[in-house]
Amino acid sequence: MTLDQATIDRLAAAPVAPAKLLINGEWTEGEGEPMPVLSPIDGSRMTTLASASAGDVARACAAARAAFEDGRWRNMAPAARKAVLHRLADLIDRETLPLAVLGVRDNGTDIGMAVKAEPGSAAQTFRYYAEALDKVYGEIAPVQSNVLAMIHREPVGVVAAIVPWNFPLMIGAWKVAPALAMGNSVVLKPAETASLTLLRLAELALEAGVPPGVFNVVTGPGRVTGEALALSPDVDVLVFTGSGATGRRLLQYSAQSNLKRCYLELGGKSPNIVFADAPDLGAAAKAAAMAIFRNAGQVCVAGSRLLVEASVHDRFVAELAEAAKKMKVGNPLSLSTQIGAVNSLTQLEGNLGFVADAAREGGEIVIGGGRTLEETGGWYMDPTVVTNVQPQHRLYQQEVFGPVLAVTPFTDEAEALRLANATEFGLAAGVWTSNLSRAHRMVRGIRSGVVHVNTYGGADITVPLSGTKQSGNGADKSMHALDKYVDLKTAWIQL
Ligand code: NAD
Repeated sequence: MTLDQATIDRLAAAPVAPAKLLINGEWTEGEGEPMPVLSPIDGSRMTTLASASAGDVARACAAARAAFEDGRWRNMAPAARKAVLHRLADLIDRETLPLAVLGVRDNGTDIGMAVKAEPGSAAQTFRYYAEALDKVYGEIAPVQSNVLAMIHREPVGVVAAIVPWNFPLMIGAWKVAPALAMGNSVVLKPAETASLTLLRLAELALEAGVPPGVFNVVTGPGRVTGEALALSPDVDVLVFTGSGATGRRLLQYSAQSNLKRCYLELGGKSPNIVFADAPDLGAAAKAAAMAIFRNAGQVCVAGSRLLVEASVHDRFVAELAEAAKKMKVGNPLSLSTQIGAVNSLTQLEGNLGFVADAAREGGEIVIGGGRTLEETGGWYMDPTVVTNVQPQHRLYQQEVFGPVLAVTPFTDEAEALRLANATEFGLAAGVWTSNLSRAHRMVRGIRSGVVHVNTYGGADITVPLSGTKQSGNGADKSMHALDKYVDLKTAWIQL
């Protein structure tokens, strides 16, 4: 779609009404104190968010449970459910720009990226799972001839989805669409700093014909609303994207409550590995800058550790720094901006803390390192490149989730592989080489959910996004995601 600045500015000037909770098809105030929503663009107060108490969460879960039990959604003919999800995708398409602008005001992603990654991919995801829902069959097992052993796939019941702030619509759709497609009810808990577009999505879902109670949204603090949801005995499956620290808590809540299944998509510290025989080092340098700096580094699969063969290290870092300096940091609603705002002041302060620690530990700051555009009142950071980062440094081991790149040289393939795997994470990786055998060896050797070769960050709804090690378990996207939302049940019938 062609974007024009005047339309974006007009949409961005619209006031945003105080947000409510969606429970059983009704918009209600939360019992907690409403939370201010501050825009990362200029720090201004946009609106307020309802804060769901444990009681509100219990009501949402009970509504989801009742909707599941009476079969108002799961017993609808598959063709009818498919039509509803297609209608929802069409409604998202109709609202692409308003949704994208609202999301940018809420979370700070640059508008160019937001249009494609947020409503664009959400609509695509709902269409994909709408089409999938009547193509998943049961099975008949090859047992002895006087028995019919049928394997049914049944919806699991109530799915709780807890999502982060970086791409709320996209990640929300990755969970809500397959859960609904398989006939489950959903209670969604968006992040405090990116709830508004998901509330609008829920409104559109009602308009599309998702029955009341099937899709509920509760907003509020993670330690109150999210915790109550994760402890709820009404929830059968918990699907989560966010930090490892929260993921750990969710497993504890599951153990303390009803042993609900937990699928965790967590953080990363993904290595982007450049060999001297890369087909085009200049192109690789530009791609390496994009890999870490797009969306101000707030991307789970960001290539945040650059491993470069020592013989080309200095030249490569210089080219990368040049490319980074050309990326314009600014108001995310401006079409000329390439790097928007950091989501919150807390996140910005955390990013700056990483840079300070890296410098203390012996890292060399090549470009950036500081806050910028402070006069706007918003939260912005310069793209930052730190060289001489060693495996024992904090910047090597911990996820920043900001525009900070850690660079480390290596001398041969074995060292590159060792360095690549030397963190607790295993989400994504990149390898740049002209040597086909080496590329395959690295794909096999790197422990991560995806390894990109001679590119970084390609993705499609048809391929899974999954982590290994402490980057999580289970898969979002693709047909594999459906496994999280069904139970297998066997009927063993004596003939
Ligand atoms: P976060 O863990 O702080 O918050 C995520 C969600 O959990 C929010 O909705 C929050 O309110 C909720 N939450 C917080 N504490 C909770 C608690 N005690 N109980 C229940 N819910 C709670 O993460 P974030 O800062 O919003 O997101 C950034 C993180 O997400 C990064 O680590 C990033 O790598 C990760 N991420 C991963 C993927 C992936 O697919 N693997 C994608 C995007 C982001």
